[in-house]
Amino acid sequence: MSACNIQIDYENPQGLATAWARVPEEPSQERRRVLLEELEDLLGQRNAVLVAHYYVHPDLQDLAEGTGGLVADSLEMARFGKQHSATTLVVAGVRFMGETAKILSPEKTILMPEREAECSLDLGCPSDAFHAFCDAHPDRTVVVYSNTSAAVKARADWVVTSGCAVAVVRHLHEQGEKILWAPDRHLGDYVAQETGADLLSWQGSCIVHDEFKAAELADLKMKMPWARVLVHPESPRAVLALADYVGSTRGILEAAGTPMVETFIVATDNGMFHKLRQTYPDKTFIEAPTAGSGATCKSCAHCPWMAMNGLENLRAILFAGTPEVTIDPGLVDRARLPIERMLDFTRADALRTAGLVPHLGAA
Ligand code: SF4
Repeated sequence: MSACNIQIDYENPQGLATAWARVPEEPSQERRRVLLEELEDLLGQRNAVLVAHYYVHPDLQDLAEGTGGLVADSLEMARFGKQHSATTLVVAGVRFMGETAKILSPEKTILMPEREAECSLDLGCPSDAFHAFCDAHPDRTVVVYSNTSAAVKARADWVVTSGCAVAVVRHLHEQGEKILWAPDRHLGDYVAQETGADLLSWQGSCIVHDEFKAAELADLKMKMPWARVLVHPESPRAVLALADYVGSTRGILEAAGTPMVETFIVATDNGMFHKLRQTYPDKTFIEAPTAGSGATCKSCAHCPWMAMNGLENLRAILFAGTPEVTIDPGLVDRARLPIERMLDFTRADALRTAGLVPHLGAA
């Protein structure tokens, strides 16, 4: 299987660091057809279910849905994998998603097409530096985004996704708690602004969303005043200020269903466009501008680590059944607590919103 190696610069506490992503070549149409047939069989033979993120290749998304699996954001991926009866979960996404699946379902075999698929937020928040940050601020409740390692989650009081970050922090703020937030500074900034919480943030960023450009987006809005702008909150504040809607991938998918609006400019990874166009075939979706034509990999609005997931490496891992995702046993129980706290909170919040329970309990 041939592949293209991409160099990626990302921010960490020391400044800029470099990582790599190995992106597989597209298979021929004939090979693709053979692989899809074989993968369907292999999933059945292994009693496996495929859970894919919205940002991975459309073939993987379609295969997941066509075989009883799921395409979703990281919150729904975690919830679905935990509840599903399959003995093997195959996670098409990036490393922290496979780790989260293992933390929540330690009895299951967790496989990933590419275990070296990273995330700049995870890489940019090493656990030793993060522990020192927490030690320096013992009076704060530690809330970390799901895009972090098991070791960072194990230090957290709460794990959140972009789908529930505002609700969780608002809840904590109402209890009088001060927040230590990590790792995405733009999402932290947005959450603080939405909730009024006293929030001290780590300074990481997503290499994809950090590239959206406000001036170019404002120009595009002027040219297309009928379009509505949907933005993921990992984007810079100036981009969020131009949005008609700010929310998670799931939220963006729902917002695109707004009646009477036919055109949307969307600021999130362009892997999302597959599900948007499938769900709303009569609507038009346009990519929000990034750095534009001189374009490095960072400015193509597609995560190179998500792009590491392909049909060939999915086949290889399913065929071999190994290597599994593993977690340091000393971390599993501690890392599970803040994730389960999030899952319990979102379940209770949904019931409360539906008017079925009077209030949320404390963490
Ligand atoms: S799109 Fe950004 S946040 Fe998502 S996995 Fe890639 S680098 Fe991480």
